[in-house]
Amino acid sequence: MSTLKIDDLHVTIDTEAGPVEILKGVSLTLNEGETHAIMGPNGSGKSTLAYTIAGHPRYEVTSGSITLDGEDVLEMSVDERAKAGLFLAMQYPVEIPGVTVTNFLRTAKTAIDGKAPALRQWVGDLRGAMDSLKMDAGFAERSVNEGFSGGEKKRHEIMQLQVLKPKFAVLDETDSGLDVDALKVVAQGVNEAKDATGLGVLLITHYTRILRYITPDFVHVIVAGRIAEEGGPELAERLEDEGYDRYLTGAEAK
Ligand code: ADP
Ligand code: MG
Repeated sequence: MSTLKIDDLHVTIDTEAGPVEILKGVSLTLNEGETHAIMGPNGSGKSTLAYTIAGHPRYEVTSGSITLDGEDVLEMSVDERAKAGLFLAMQYPVEIPGVTVTNFLRTAKTAIDGKAPALRQWVGDLRGAMDSLKMDAGFAERSVNEGFSGGEKKRHEIMQLQVLKPKFAVLDETDSGLDVDALKVVAQGVNEAKDATGLGVLLITHYTRILRYITPDFVHVIVAGRIAEEGGPELAERLEDEGYDRYLTGAEAK
């Protein structure tokens, strides 16, 4: 069984005012097939955690570790992380003018697997992903994210997930900007990937809404760079009722 383990992670970023520690000791263990929700108020460090796992150069790990099946993820380049089975769906996906969705996905799949996918299988996979995400055929020929609506960007991220078949996916605010119908389609896409490949999911979200469609096994609440509370799905329900106020009243608030 695969395991992604984050242990006492401290992360600093450089700002105009000098280095600032954003994550102040975050630990969690995500096993294959599990879904962990990372929740928390704005600015608490959720995206910082996602980018650090993905290997964004801006985020400096000053102590702690991230390992995938015992291998040191922090020693891996961004490419190596993808090859090892890590996937990040960004909060704000980037546009790649001139590169079509179909070429982008095929190039990514080839890079990750170390060989080009067999054509017949690939065409089937692509069509299956597009059907399940209710995207029309013309979508595959558009430039990546260029002029995509918020919903299309998120569907494209989930389409990547379905064809690249990572071991672990970090989904950063995949629910933001989606209407309820798009949210259901995206959630179903994630659930299908879980069922098909035993995907482990780190589901980062400010709101509890998506958790009605993707049921978390565990919920971790991050406040000011630390895990403030952990529990099962019932914790998300509590947050839906109470919000984050009770975490922010103490000295923690920034
Ligand atoms: P979240 O995703 O939980 O909303 P982030 O991880 O994006 O939080 O941000 C955590 C903290 O880091 C915030 O206080 C934010 O202001 C700060 N931060 C993030 N990126 C930058 C940056 N480029 N420059 C300065 N501060 C930043
Ligand atoms: Mg964020």
